[in-house]
Amino acid sequence: MIVRKSPMEIERMRASGRLVARVLASLHDAVRPGATTMDLERRARRMIRSGGATAAFKGYYVPAARKKFPAALCTSVNDEVVHGIPSRRRVLREGDIVKVDCGVLLDGYYGDSATTIPVGRISAETERLLRVTRESLDLAVEEMVDGRRLFDVSGAVQRHVEGNGFSIVKEFVGHGIGRKLHEEPQVPNHVDPKIRNVRLRTGMVLAIEPMVVAGDPGTRILRDRFTAVTRDGSNAAHFEHCVAVTENGPRLLTVA
Ligand code: MG
Ligand code: MG
Repeated sequence: MIVRKSPMEIERMRASGRLVARVLASLHDAVRPGATTMDLERRARRMIRSGGATAAFKGYYVPAARKKFPAALCTSVNDEVVHGIPSRRRVLREGDIVKVDCGVLLDGYYGDSATTIPVGRISAETERLLRVTRESLDLAVEEMVDGRRLFDVSGAVQRHVEGNGFSIVKEFVGHGIGRKLHEEPQVPNHVDPKIRNVRLRTGMVLAIEPMVVAGDPGTRILRDRFTAVTRDGSNAAHFEHCVAVTENGPRLLTVA
């Protein structure tokens, strides 16, 4: 069942989204050569606490891993696509890219957003990967209009990514969000006939999150049971926003 939110609920989700956006903006300042992914985790935890929220991912049970995620942030470097675990041993180097994914629970509603941050100078091709992935999310957001369908959102991502010669990771998808972190529907980043192509209606809130790789899109899970990496070692990018379908069109919730 897809839960549609009232305008008042969307205002609450806007507050969660604003906090997540502030955390991610602050992480941009913290990412530099020599920093560890645990430095990012500590900063995020501090900001979530002082914002009066709780970290959504820490302690979240992941059935596929058969255990709870141990941190507030997912930090995934280079070929790590998503769900990397912050570590004081993981030192960021010039030329790396780090994906940070943050979820909070504030006043009963979740916010969830991710971005990919360059560490110092990165190659032109990696820069293009980040730009195309970010653009594919922007195009998907524009489709969040009452009366359109889920595959208008998915197809917008797919067309832009594949049209630019990159590949979509299909094992992980976006999701509805609200009083639960993961609600229906699933939001694939490609047109997937196995999923029902639901009609978008005012009050629906989706976390749209393209995961895009420069090479082959196949992934595997590391022995920590969480971190997903590309099989061929190629770089991956990830951007995510929560977006509401409103009477006035798409509304981005996870912005400052
Ligand atoms: Mg996320
Ligand atoms: Mg998400």
